[in-house]
Amino acid sequence: MMITCKQIAKKMADQKLHEVPTFQRWWMKLHIKMCVVCGSYQQDAEKFQQAESKFAELEEEYGSKLDADFKQKLKDKLRETCKEDNI
Ligand SMILES: [Zn+2]
Repeated sequence: MMITCKQIAKKMADQKLHEVPTFQRWWMKLHIKMCVVCGSYQQDAEKFQQAESKFAELEEEYGSKLDADFKQKLKDKLRETCKEDNI
């Protein structure tokens, strides 16, 4: 059974890993462990999710005081930071 990086990236991007049949998920996990590309992609995805939840926290705390433009800038900045960390 052959799983490509592309298939894995797509499943991860769609957050549908849990919908994958168990045996296939096992192969995907193995692939992610072995494959540099998917490994770093998964870390990226996790980092991005952390940034997103951090942003949600901030928004909850300060949301009413921030205007939409500033919020968007903050969000962009978080995304940039995620990417820079990965270099
Ligand atoms: Zn891969």
